[in-house]
Amino acid sequence: MKYDYLIVGAGLYGAVFAHEAVNAGKKVLVVEKRPHIAGNVYTEDVEGINVHKYGAHIFHTNNKKVWEYITKFAEFNRFTNSPVANYKGELYSLPFNMYTFNKMWGVVTPEEAAAKIEEQRKEIKGEPKNLEEQAISLVGRDIYEKLIKGYTEKQWGRDCKELPSFIIKRLPVRLTFDNNYFNALYQGIPVGGYTKMVENLLDGIEVRLDTDYLKNKQELDALADKVVYTGPIDAYFDFSLGTLEYRSVRFENELLDIPNYQGNAAVNYTDRETPWTRIIEHKWFEFGKNKDGNDIPKTVISREYSSEWKPGDEPYYPVNDEKNGALYAEYKKLADKEQNMIFGGRLGEYKYYDMDAVIASALDMAEREL
Ligand code: FAD
Ligand code: UDP
Repeated sequence: MKYDYLIVGAGLYGAVFAHEAVNAGKKVLVVEKRPHIAGNVYTEDVEGINVHKYGAHIFHTNNKKVWEYITKFAEFNRFTNSPVANYKGELYSLPFNMYTFNKMWGVVTPEEAAAKIEEQRKEIKGEPKNLEEQAISLVGRDIYEKLIKGYTEKQWGRDCKELPSFIIKRLPVRLTFDNNYFNALYQGIPVGGYTKMVENLLDGIEVRLDTDYLKNKQELDALADKVVYTGPIDAYFDFSLGTLEYRSVRFENELLDIPNYQGNAAVNYTDRETPWTRIIEHKWFEFGKNKDGNDIPKTVISREYSSEWKPGDEPYYPVNDEKNGALYAEYKKLADKEQNMIFGGRLGEYKYYDMDAVIASALDMAEREL
């Protein structure tokens, strides 16, 4: 065999595993069906701005091992995610904190804010039964109506009364002046873009772009002892048990001839009428500067729309419901029977992985395998 490992997919999982395999003295070939590396974290340079082509990616983790690992391949800047909510032209700080409460109610002290929330949450008696009740019981009706209801219904395409309450529980509620969206020890954006970071992971490794493994399976399988597959698990089995579903999102990108469109990387449109959920202004992930440290005169914005996924669309977020979970479990049984095949990553394991989790998972696999 020419290679020890054939790695299908040049996303984070594939790139980390490939790097580790080569470090362990293995011969590796990476194939990627897209015309570029980096999978969904791919960034593209437009007028000096690193545009997050498949959706905004903010690296955040509490995992020290992952942080120490990934910072070998990129320097991270001090970007802290603090989105702004725009409700019919009124602007509020996110996540819900003292700035938000002050703007909403004019309260000044944490005690006043807590009293206001307490007064409003009383309308919910007993255990919250759905997202609406959970939201009101966390932050009260005013915030629910202006900052949660419209956004959530656009994002999920369903009424808040029909959504499970856990979705909203992960949003922090703080009685402090802290706009940091993530409760993470480490956070930032790789200076120079994610593509450069993945390039560094794949340094010296043979990568064939525009190569679909499933269309060239026999010929590619013949090249390597083992295959690490990071594509969709149902596609590998030719959808024989049915199609796994995804939640999709559509991006509309625009290059504008102005230096500053919204003054922040992310603005959420929390009313029901605006058709997009949020607008990303990419330059603010790197403080509006190009790689030479100069101000960039133009700007790129992306409007994000939630859309119903149908087979053939870009698979973004796995749907963690019972039906899809059960179907995945059936595919997993088939996968376990395959000889010399490893299924990994967001699509290979049909799992909602953040970047840090996918890196941890690839490192884990490398440790067991190599
Ligand atoms: P992917 O990046 O999808 O890589 C898989 C690769 O395999 C792709 O390049 C694909 O083209 C290739 N492939 C598939 N089939 C084949 C085939 N048959 N032949 C050859 N190649 C194939 N995480 C965070 O930590 N922070 C964030 O802010 C964040 N934001 C996100 C926003 C969006 C819209 C989405 C969808 C995800 C976000 N994530 C975020 C998650 C992050 O994108 C993933 O954790 C990460 O990209 C997963 O890496 P992966 O290698 O498993 O998958
Ligand atoms: N959410 C909201 N208003 C906002 C931002 C988030 O109501 O301005 C809700 C929405 O229901 C979302 C959930 O909070 O699904 C979790 O937010 P997160 O940012 O984690 O969104 P996700 O990762 O689901 O896109």
